[in-house]
Amino acid sequence: MKSVIAIDGPAGSGKGTIAKLVGKKLGYMYIDSGAIYRCVALLTIRNGIDINDEEKLCDIAKKMNVEFIDNKVFLDLEDVGVDIRSKEVSDIVSLVSKHKKLRDIIIEIERNYAKDKDIIMEGRDITTVVFPNAKYKFYLDADLNVRAKRRYEELIKRNIKITLEEVVDGISKRDYNDTHKEVGALIRTDEQIYINTTDVEIEEVVNKIIEVVRSE
Ligand code: C5P
Repeated sequence: MKSVIAIDGPAGSGKGTIAKLVGKKLGYMYIDSGAIYRCVALLTIRNGIDINDEEKLCDIAKKMNVEFIDNKVFLDLEDVGVDIRSKEVSDIVSLVSKHKKLRDIIIEIERNYAKDKDIIMEGRDITTVVFPNAKYKFYLDADLNVRAKRRYEELIKRNIKITLEEVVDGISKRDYNDTHKEVGALIRTDEQIYINTTDVEIEEVVNKIIEVVRSE
């Protein structure tokens, strides 16, 4: 396995934007693990699959191919960047991701990315379950209202129709689901370096992470 920088944190904590920039500066491939769960959720919607049918979810996950190219997400060669961020997908993804067998399949997919490349991966269980032995582990956080505002601005930029209230509501529900999962829950540990991004410029956080990686 090559070098891994693992980052966890709730939605809107800045981990995606920050991981992308750190990856670019250090030459690590950026992997958005949430996008993989979102691809499964998108396929359940497109194929009319019940999100409680764990076996079918596992079938989908085993067959799908998710690639990250130039920071774009391709599902079976289709650029799904907009579709996986839709409200429909966001509303069900944390429920899709609670199934243990599905998570086991996705964990394998995630570990495969690190077989021949240095990677920076962000998600909810990357520092604890996927790469518990990663050399660099971070937990990014921010206040709920700040996280919702960031996510809202991101979605508006992508021409996704949604109100700020809907984003606050959606993120609060996902926070609850993601911290109360029986497997792969988002948790804080002593091994992660905790960074609160509420009042901090992105560049500052990027530099801090790079400093940690370069100092070891
Ligand atoms: O990171 P993002 O908010 O796009 O992730 C979407 C959802 O995927 C999360 O709310 C969570 O339910 C699930 N997820 C997960 N484990 C990860 C990454 C994401 O369960 N490592």
